[in-house]
Amino acid sequence: MLAERPDAVVLAGGTDLMVAINEGHRQIGREALVVGVNRVPELRSWTIDRSAGTLRIGAAVTYAELAAPPLAGLVPALAQAARTVGSPQIRNAATIGGNVVTCSPAGDGLPVLAALEATVELVSGDGVRELPIGEVMVGVKQTALRRGELVTAITVPLLDGWQGYAKVGVRNAMVIAIAGACLAVDGPSRSVRLALASVAPTIVRAEAAEAHARQAVDWSEGTIAAGAVAEFGRLAATASTPIDDHRSTADYRRHSIDVLARRLLGRAFTVTGAERVPA
Ligand SMILES: Cc1cc2nc3c(=O)[nH]c(=O)nc-3n(C[C@H](O)[C@H](O)[C@H](O)COP(=O)(O)OP(=O)(O)OC[C@H]3O[C@@H](n4cnc5c(N)ncnc54)[C@H](O)[C@@H]3O)c2cc1C
Repeated sequence: MLAERPDAVVLAGGTDLMVAINEGHRQIGREALVVGVNRVPELRSWTIDRSAGTLRIGAAVTYAELAAPPLAGLVPALAQAARTVGSPQIRNAATIGGNVVTCSPAGDGLPVLAALEATVELVSGDGVRELPIGEVMVGVKQTALRRGELVTAITVPLLDGWQGYAKVGVRNAMVIAIAGACLAVDGPSRSVRLALASVAPTIVRAEAAEAHARQAVDWSEGTIAAGAVAEFGRLAATASTPIDDHRSTADYRRHSIDVLARRLLGRAFTVTGAERVPA
């Protein structure tokens, strides 16, 4: 249907699309074809590939499903992010595929997918493409999707290590992130990944902070020195390029990333030494 009708529009949970239409940011012609995907079983399901160590999540899996067992146990950071999205009504409708295609810098699922190094499966009349999430997100609400392409699934590796998501907002619920961060540890490869939200045109990885943590962690003890945690926060903040807008200031966002990065690292490892890590 998407291949046949260039004016076709994909509708999943509608929690972004309907807002855009109602506010006049997006026009859909009266004769346009709207293709609803939220009742397609293949897009609503998920599978584990134990030999590859991956989880394939259908694009129309909702945040409510991601927030609850068994998915919550497989990708805890994605579950934590999902629990911060909107309200129960929004979480019941909103999908992970919709979050990817909207590609807001504040999308709560996106820093988790970036930290996990997810792969996005795109299907069109021309065939199947698999793109790393970092290549899908090209700018503020801009993706690398081609006309007529459907996101069918997102595949994430099942990492062996601590992972978590945290965000700063003006309330605890129904809030768009002023700043957000996902930290994911993979013990076997001794990697620490940190992805930042709401502080750049799209999600960014804090590569210098990641490299610093990798060598500063005592991997056999699972510890890190307080001074190294402080440096991790400082390096994370320098990876952000925030702006002042109606939600916050660039300075506060940069400060938030410093705090969030230190907080997450302090949850992932036992911190040794004097300096206190923010709870
Ligand atoms: C009150 C409210 C609170 C919110 N709070 C949050 C929040 O806290 N955090 C957050 O991140 N977001 C929030 N959102 C935004 C929204 O809920 C999410 O971005 C959600 O993941 C969008 O998914 P959806 O299924 O509703 O997408 P839809 O609105 O159905 O679609 C969004 C876009 O993606 C396209 N699309 C959808 N699925 C596919 C697919 N499979 N293939 C190709 N294109 C597709 C659509 O054509 C459209 O362009 C909120 C929205 C509302 C209304």
